[in-house]
Amino acid sequence: MAASMAAAARRLRRAFRRSPLWGGLSRRPFSSEPPPASATAVRDAFLSFFRDRHGHRLVPSTSVRPRGDPSLLFVNAGMNQFKPIFLGTVDPRSEMAGFRRVANSQKCVRAGGRHNDLEDVGRDLSHHTFFEMLGNWAFGGEYFKEEACRMAWELLTQVYGIPEDRLWVSYFGGDPKAGLDPDLESRDIWLSLGVCASHVLSFGPQENFWEMGNTGPCGPCTEIHYDLAGRGGAPQLVELWNLVFIQHNREADGSLQPLPQRHVDTGMGLERLVAVLQGTRSTYDTDLFSPLLDAIQQGCGVSPYLGRVGAADEGRTDMAYRVVADHIRTLSVCIADGVCPGMSGAPLVLRRILRRAVRFSTEVLRAPPGFLGSLVPVVVETLGDAYPELRKHSAQIVNLVSEDEAAFLASLQRGRHIIDQTLRRLGPSDLFPAEVAWSLSLSGNLGLPLDLVELMLEEKGVQLDSAGLARLAQEEAQHRSRQAEPAQERGLQLNVHALGELQRRGVPPTDDSPKYSYSLRPSGGYEFGTCEAQVLQLYTEDGTAVASVGKGQRCGLLLDKTNFYAEQGGQASDRGYLVRVGQEDVLFPVPRAQVCGGFILHEAVAPEGLKVGDQVQLHVDEAWRLGCMEKHTATHLLNWALRQTLGPGTEQQGSHLNPERLRFDVATQAPLTPEQLRAVEGTVQEAVGQDEAVYMEEVALARTAHIPGLRFLDEVYPDPVRVVSVGVPVAEALDLASQAALQTSVELCCGTHLLRTGAVGDLVIVGERQLSRGTTRLLAVTGEQAQQAREVGQALAQEVGAAAERLSRGSQDVVEAQRLSKDMGRLTDAVDTAVMPQWQRRELQATLKVLQRRANTAIRKLETGQAAQKTQELLRRHSEGPLIVDTVSTESLSVLVKVVRQLCERAPRTSVLLLSPQPLGHVLCACQVAQGTTPAFTAEAWALAVCSHMGGKAWGSQVVAQGTGTTADLEAALRTARAYALNQL
Ligand code: ATP
Ligand code: MG
Repeated sequence: MAASMAAAARRLRRAFRRSPLWGGLSRRPFSSEPPPASATAVRDAFLSFFRDRHGHRLVPSTSVRPRGDPSLLFVNAGMNQFKPIFLGTVDPRSEMAGFRRVANSQKCVRAGGRHNDLEDVGRDLSHHTFFEMLGNWAFGGEYFKEEACRMAWELLTQVYGIPEDRLWVSYFGGDPKAGLDPDLESRDIWLSLGVCASHVLSFGPQENFWEMGNTGPCGPCTEIHYDLAGRGGAPQLVELWNLVFIQHNREADGSLQPLPQRHVDTGMGLERLVAVLQGTRSTYDTDLFSPLLDAIQQGCGVSPYLGRVGAADEGRTDMAYRVVADHIRTLSVCIADGVCPGMSGAPLVLRRILRRAVRFSTEVLRAPPGFLGSLVPVVVETLGDAYPELRKHSAQIVNLVSEDEAAFLASLQRGRHIIDQTLRRLGPSDLFPAEVAWSLSLSGNLGLPLDLVELMLEEKGVQLDSAGLARLAQEEAQHRSRQAEPAQERGLQLNVHALGELQRRGVPPTDDSPKYSYSLRPSGGYEFGTCEAQVLQLYTEDGTAVASVGKGQRCGLLLDKTNFYAEQGGQASDRGYLVRVGQEDVLFPVPRAQVCGGFILHEAVAPEGLKVGDQVQLHVDEAWRLGCMEKHTATHLLNWALRQTLGPGTEQQGSHLNPERLRFDVATQAPLTPEQLRAVEGTVQEAVGQDEAVYMEEVALARTAHIPGLRFLDEVYPDPVRVVSVGVPVAEALDLASQAALQTSVELCCGTHLLRTGAVGDLVIVGERQLSRGTTRLLAVTGEQAQQAREVGQALAQEVGAAAERLSRGSQDVVEAQRLSKDMGRLTDAVDTAVMPQWQRRELQATLKVLQRRANTAIRKLETGQAAQKTQELLRRHSEGPLIVDTVSTESLSVLVKVVRQLCERAPRTSVLLLSPQPLGHVLCACQVAQGTTPAFTAEAWALAVCSHMGGKAWGSQVVAQGTGTTADLEAALRTARAYALNQL
């Protein structure tokens, strides 16, 4: 009966998920009730219900940026901040350790990683990329299923006044494969609360068993659903609230163990709750969204939002309304929390979201330029009271959104042209070429998300060459990993013959001065110029000079001038693209430029023919270049800080940087101490904090001689040479009397630098190793990555602190002590590999070493004590004889082995086998055979006989062995053990 009901309900739920319409509800469902409450009132009512009626402490929402948890892209549930409590790693001295019952409203983003609802947004009426999760928690068994269900029911039906017959609940129906019983306790609680039996449904582990990850705390959950149809007919269910009961731990071997502490963890989507209470058809018709929909209508002058979905939504206008409204909320909240659109990780996800919003707003809603930014104040108005950081950063949000929108619009326009142009050349059944799609993409040049390129093609009815695209993606990944360890790969080169020929013809070296023409806008962004140039010579892959190249050919281009930075001085080459003047719609991707004898060779794949004499326009990949500039200025600051910390004689031995990270080799007598590493970071941070101007000027090389403090590398410098000086104009720094170069960073350098140091943001040294005696290689990250590294470090330090505190409290329980020791091992692995400050890594490694030793000693002591006690008991029970086969209660296999050993020491002529039953039918086994028994009687074979009888495994030596198995009939296992031994003795 339950099964068929479950199947019926599953069908219903599936049906609901497929039909995203929230039924045809009237706007006012509960006619006798007062007018629908505002979202603010609904949120407040939730919080005050748990605070005032049920004594919960209110905890503020954390930022959507996960603090020190690299496993998450964004905070995606209310429980994220309480993870240390669930994992048992919370510092006993921290405020959080005292949490018993808490409630909050958490900002969540589900747009990447394990929970990704991005694809659903706009298509259905109940999923958002940003939403608010209302939740209540009871930690350490403060309350459990009964109270949690009762509170939820009371809130929904009495406080919010939702009619009981519109609510359905589900509970965990058990999982025979995992040996888990149905959660009948939850079922009975719902029935006792008066939920009608036909509204109580059971589901399998897929739906109703919650797990945090592959290992860790987990447990059954019970969900409350709302029936949108509500006329007694087929229900249309939408999930409102999920109540999770954490009571098991998923071990590394996949088994489930009961947790020493049980917890309640619940989450309810505010938007869905408000929709129910406001009697609307979807979350978008609530006061959380309607001001945005109104603003979109006004700003774009489109027909009003009608809430249509799927095929009914002709022209996808309503979908566009939803996408734009959803995405601008997410953008605003994320930027306010410090996640800005960027190049990798969460920032890249945000960049995609922004671009998706721009596309829907401009292409479908015909929004005017700058429109997205104009929606930010509406978001601030609806959410600013609950989350004041939105108000605080609203100007910055508007700026960032508008700048990125403008950049994207320009790319989008060009992308559309290119697609049209390419299509004209394609036959009716041709695939769209992967190279063109790639050059349009985020990884390529125009920065259009690939899924968007695909969508644009889908609209034109062409198919993309996906296999070709996958190949390009793989090549890009390989290229990137090579960039991380540069210098092995050599791209196209000019050979001696080519160089000789150029010199013979009197071709002047490439004028690459335009690489320095960029400026800082008042808003803080950089503006890069383009550069027009003429093709002087073309080269094939093998270096042969040619007058023209054909379609699809990889080639080298020599131009009269360029704004590309060619790899030199440890700065990675620029990348970007060029177009032929007069044919701006065909992009020639340029992955790299190299300098050979003063000539700069651009590597390109020609999508069309190209010939000597052609005029081209060059565009550098701005995000890439800016990343290099940040890292290069950071490298100078690091060099300076190292001298400040280690002494003026400290010599740089080399460096390399790309937008991801920087590497710096420095001559040292010994590895840097944690204090020195910290001091270096501190000095850099200070210079960054002062946002000093960076001056660059070309001067005669002779002028740089004899300047105290000026850094020369073992390099040949051009004359004139470029000087880069931080905080002091170059002329002043080169004044023999000024001593400026002793007080700030002044270097001879041809790299491209920031114009002010502030944009470095932060610098963290995340790695340090000895290359050879006397040389230390440092790895560092900057900006957002540096901040993340600090957060990871802080989180790990807290975990180590908490572990230390747990250890110092001592435990009389072997299993608890073993868990602590395992945690220590896990923490050591995490600390060894995390991207975190190196000084902190070293400190934590030292601490953990000591802690691990102490934990192991404590375990040994506890085990020995426990074993001695159990040995005594067994000796009392068994008189002297050749054999002891018995059961012992312990949760630890190593205690069991110790008991066996101690028994054999006390009774050397006795062979011993002990079994220890565990929950769920698991059995531990240990044995030892007495000296002088027949050679055929070995401990390993004995354990194997018994454990394979229990369907398990065993291992060990001739004398001692251990194993595990599973059986419901322990007596039979003991009989097997006795019979085997008697047979051998
Ligand atoms: P669904 O099956 O609807 O995607 P879920 O099982 O992913 O929901 P949970 O992870 O249990 O949801 O989250 C708890 C609550 O948060 C849900 O009951 C729902 O009310 C709300 N919720 C989850 N995802 C979203 C989303 N993308 N947008 C709005 N609310 C959401
Ligand atoms: Mg979901």
